[in-house]
Amino acid sequence: MNSIQELNMTQILSIQWLMNVSRYIIIVGGSYLIFWRLLKHKLNIKTHNPNSIKFKNIKREFLYSLQTLTLFLIPTYLIMEYSKIGVFKVYYDINDMSLTWYFLSYVCSFFLHDTYFYWTHRLLHTKPFFKFHSIHHKSLYPTPFAAFAFNATEGIIQSFAFVFISLLIPLHISTFMIFTLYSLIHNVYGHLGMDILSKERMEQFPFRYFNHPTHHGWHHRYARGNYGLYLRFWDRIMGTWKGGLK
Ligand SMILES: [Zn+2]
Ligand SMILES: [Zn+2]
Repeated sequence: MNSIQELNMTQILSIQWLMNVSRYIIIVGGSYLIFWRLLKHKLNIKTHNPNSIKFKNIKREFLYSLQTLTLFLIPTYLIMEYSKIGVFKVYYDINDMSLTWYFLSYVCSFFLHDTYFYWTHRLLHTKPFFKFHSIHHKSLYPTPFAAFAFNATEGIIQSFAFVFISLLIPLHISTFMIFTLYSLIHNVYGHLGMDILSKERMEQFPFRYFNHPTHHGWHHRYARGNYGLYLRFWDRIMGTWKGGLK
């Protein structure tokens, strides 16, 4: 990983952008092809949207997501630049911290990201801020392409989750790449627009702690409640849990 330190900022940001976009295209495009085009018909899975999917909606979700993936370069720049003077706790040599911390840092990142998302998402649902979030709610029934369909202000707010996390805890450089990949996969799953687990399964251990497409689908449909990203934790504590689509 030391080789990353030898790259200049333009090279780092170019690689980051290519990685962001190619991961999005592979995972979102792959999910769409596998679930919407193949398994939906084969396994007779019902989509949440009772109507057929419109190309103009997918196009909007895709273009806004591309904009957000580009905005994700802002935290990369800030974290890489200011970790040099110790503002952010990023480390490059895995031996600088224990292996226990390396694995624990994923658990902490997961909980901190869920916390950051829940509270910023709730803020975006207040009257003065909803204008920044309304683009995301144009998808009444989202498809995987909606994973990052945010307006620019919301894109910057959500990208700063990683600034927030790396201000608080030390993260190895590989954790950023692996955790953001996990985050993308979970986000795409939340916007799948159909349920691949049965309602009973979703309420069994360990699935009952997580958000599933039916729950985030409920949020898109009614624009209130179910504000969490990965977990039901904050929604349960704050009384904003609404369950899934009927
Ligand atoms: Zn959404
Ligand atoms: Zn929302």
